[in-house]
Amino acid sequence: MPQGSKEISELTVLSIFAHPDDEAFGSGGTLAELVQKGHKVTAVCATNGDVGEISDPALATPENLWQVRQEEMQRAMAVMGITDVRFLGYRDSGMDGTPDNENPACLFQADPSKVEAEVSALLDELKPDIVFTHDPTGGYGHPDHLTTYQRATAAVEAMTNDRPHLYYVCFPKSNFRKLWQEMTDAGITPPFAKEEMEKIGSPDDYLTTVRDVSEYVDIKKESLNCHQTQLDPNGPFSAMAPEFMTAWMSTEYFYLNQPKGGGSQEDILAELP
Ligand SMILES: [Zn+2]
Repeated sequence: MPQGSKEISELTVLSIFAHPDDEAFGSGGTLAELVQKGHKVTAVCATNGDVGEISDPALATPENLWQVRQEEMQRAMAVMGITDVRFLGYRDSGMDGTPDNENPACLFQADPSKVEAEVSALLDELKPDIVFTHDPTGGYGHPDHLTTYQRATAAVEAMTNDRPHLYYVCFPKSNFRKLWQEMTDAGITPPFAKEEMEKIGSPDDYLTTVRDVSEYVDIKKESLNCHQTQLDPNGPFSAMAPEFMTAWMSTEYFYLNQPKGGGSQEDILAELP
């Protein structure tokens, strides 16, 4: 065992993302693998995804979407074997410039020190070895993704002892390009224009850890499927060849944020016990 590393036969993991389903897209395979290998995972959602899509009006109304998404999240996590699921209860902030973004109950408007204290309380209680959250780009810049990234990072960086490994879940630019090209070649209109696509995602050289999760991709897909309100049967993702999507979802990308004060941490995700 390298010097300074603790025995990692049982890891404690805190996954903290903005909306129900964010956990699955970028890190669902890794979370499933962690659970299968006997590690303990707590999944936290900062918001209830109140202003997300409603794929079918039979599933939810704008008024009860928050509740339906909490239930979907519980089911999605049960598929992975995660039973400790928590909600910070903030309202979804919607996109920049929308009235939802001005709502005083939304995460974006919440007092930063209050949200940071809530994350700190989770860190104190759970004492995680690993924290997963959004990366500094927020994937595609959603205000809730960015806010969650900022508050989680601040809470971890404020720790003086037992700082967990802080991993940002990334979507590399090359991956967005590949998806965009595949959609275009298949005659499917991508969810974003080419110019927009060039602006989103993390630079490929930013990544520290690339993981093959093909062994767990079926669980990831089943978990993702629980977020029914967010799955548009007529949307571009549904139109894609299933083999492409399976392959696309079989790799996950991370950035290990090293402690600012020195004392570098090893990349424990590189070889999971
Ligand atoms: Zn999200």
